[in-house]
Amino acid sequence: MSLYLVFGLWVPILMEIRIRKLNKDFFSEGKRITALDQVNLNIPANRIFTLLGPSGCGKTTLLRCIVGLETPDKGEILIGDEIVFSQEKNIYLPPEKRRLGMVFQTYAIWPHMNVFDNVAYPLQTRKLPKKEIADKVAETLRFVQLAGFEKRPATKLSGGQQQRVALARALVAEPKVILFDEPLSNLDAKLREETRKELRSFLSRLSITAVYVTHDQIEALSLSDMVAVMRNGRIIEMGTPWDIYFNSDQRFVADFIGRANIIDGKIRSVEKGWAVIESAIGTIVCQSRDEAVPGKSVSVCIRPEFIKLLTEAGGEGRNVFRGKVESLVFVGDIQEGEVRIKETTLSFQVEPTAKIKEGDLINLRFDPTHCSILFN
Ligand code: ADP
Ligand code: MG
Repeated sequence: MSLYLVFGLWVPILMEIRIRKLNKDFFSEGKRITALDQVNLNIPANRIFTLLGPSGCGKTTLLRCIVGLETPDKGEILIGDEIVFSQEKNIYLPPEKRRLGMVFQTYAIWPHMNVFDNVAYPLQTRKLPKKEIADKVAETLRFVQLAGFEKRPATKLSGGQQQRVALARALVAEPKVILFDEPLSNLDAKLREETRKELRSFLSRLSITAVYVTHDQIEALSLSDMVAVMRNGRIIEMGTPWDIYFNSDQRFVADFIGRANIIDGKIRSVEKGWAVIESAIGTIVCQSRDEAVPGKSVSVCIRPEFIKLLTEAGGEGRNVFRGKVESLVFVGDIQEGEVRIKETTLSFQVEPTAKIKEGDLINLRFDPTHCSILFN
């Protein structure tokens, strides 16, 4: 952990990152590409903060601007109280002066070096005394659980171990902030899950400001304290993983994160916190929102886990729909299915023991507290 001596007490440095009206255009084959479009963002200190968005939305560009590998066209970046970039004030601090650690998508560790030399490299370039380097490397390797691997050639490590070497190298110089650009995308699914959990525990113990970039919503939800969703060079929503998953009112966000059924409709009435929506599958009652007014065209979002299979007897009431099972796949802990209600196909899920099969007519109930209104 980075510490500052204040009035005789060691206190952690709180490195918030503030980004103001950041713009970055690229020019390629005579065309202008706006990679960052007026980005305003406060990245909280000592939290795991994730930028989530589809490929090409500007995540890497934003990270590279924070690190100093890319120069924005306009705007301002502050790390802690220090302005590291300002177009107006003509300030540009080079990457080595920003004291940030970075872990890239490709492991970017040097294959011709052993583990020790890979991790020691950032300290050697700073010409620290040998003993100090050895101590710091040993401590960092212990932290990432690679003590004893010092002499191992980098090429003789598994993918997960290589990623931990990359993490150790980013941490060894005690950065104030650590940034990750899709660091797990080259690992296979099982290792990715393991490494994700490890990374979360490493970062929580460090109390460091971590900025994590991914297009993978599961990674974003499971790893982060806060998530910002990016689209076309803009931050379009920010919140806790819970907020982003359950409370977004934006169609793009609901659709991008998790599995979501999105049904177009029109608000018929609004009363006591509930909205009644006319849709292609029938009348849906859902949680209302402030902006919901009768006559407005909206969409309803219902996630598969909140669609409940009813027994034949329970086939009446609001938000109950009858449909035909189009497909059903056993995936272990659940069965994932598709059901056709009138002309609309929706995803749903049932217990692995549920006795239904393709072609069956079934009754389903949408939990109204988990039906939400989306604005387009
Ligand atoms: P992401 O990391 O979210 O996939 P990037 O930040 O890499 O997105 O890219 C954002 C946009 O900027 C994309 O349209 C990409 O093609 C473009 N871009 C990024 N870097 C360059 C570059 N050096 N030259 C031209 N276009 C670029
Ligand atoms: Mg990228």
